[in-house]
This record gives sequence, structure tokens and C-alpha cells, in this order.
Amino acid sequence: MKRVAKKIVLHFPEKTTDKPIVSKLIRDYGLDFNILKASISPGEEGLMVMELSGEQNDYDKGIRYLQSAGVEIQALSQDVVRNEERCTHCGACITMCPTRAFSLEKDTLMVIFDNSKCVVCELCVKACPPRAMELHF
Ligand code: SF4
Ligand code: SF4
Repeated sequence: MKRVAKKIVLHFPEKTTDKPIVSKLIRDYGLDFNILKASISPGEEGLMVMELSGEQNDYDKGIRYLQSAGVEIQALSQDVVRNEERCTHCGACITMCPTRAFSLEKDTLMVIFDNSKCVVCELCVKACPPRAMELHF
């Protein structure tokens, strides 16, 4: 039986974040996962990036289960990077990023971007005034 391992982004709607959806993937479908990034608070929308692996059949069943539970799934084949030459440190991205990947350095008033917290939701790509946030495939 063929094994698969894929990086995916899970978008959990508000009503699902307090349910043990991910643990069911291991218990009922025998899948393994490695959480790469997560931003989930009970009662709020959540985002999680994970590598999910297992037998192809089990993997497909696990994905169908996630979808039936209302979780939106997206393949992670892209990355968001900042074009440092374009960024004007206006700060518009700080409050919109759901995973708090941006922060303001108090002394210099520069906006710091921590790519390791980014879950590629693309909100900043669309909203950055000088188009400094770029989607790379
Ligand atoms: S919105 Fe764009 S220009 Fe403004 S701080 Fe963020 S990345 Fe830089
Ligand atoms: S794409 Fe932008 S807004 Fe979305 S998580 Fe990454 S840095 Fe934050």
C-alpha cells in the first residue's frame, strides 16, 4: 500500500476549534502528523499547518473526515516572503495577521516579520500598501 506525506493548511471555523478533530485523525484513521505552525484559540477561527502522512487510503479517508467536520484544507506549496526593499514599515500588516507574524520593534519603529509564524493566509499580500508581501511558489 502506497504511503503519502503532504503539507497542508487547515482552516478551522469558529465552531470547530474546541473539538478534538486532529486527535481523531490518529485514533480513527491511523495517520501521523507533524504540526509545523498553529494558531488556534477555543471559540475563534484557527489555522494549522501540518505534514500529514499515512497509507493513501487512510489519508483520503482522513481528508474526507476533516472536510465533513467543516475544516477547509489547502495544499501548502507556497510561501509568503517580504520584499525588504519595498516595505515602508507602515505597520498595516501588524493587526491583520492572524498568527501575529509581524511585530513592532520599539526602539527603531521597524516592523519585524517572523516567517516561521506565517501560515500563508495571504491577508497581508492583498493588504500591504506598497505590495511588499509576496507569494512565492
Ligand atoms: S503593510 Fe507592508 S509596508 Fe507596511 S509594514 Fe507591513 S509589510 Fe511593510
Ligand atoms: S500570509 Fe501574512 S497575514 Fe497571513 S499569516 Fe502570513 S504573514 Fe500573517
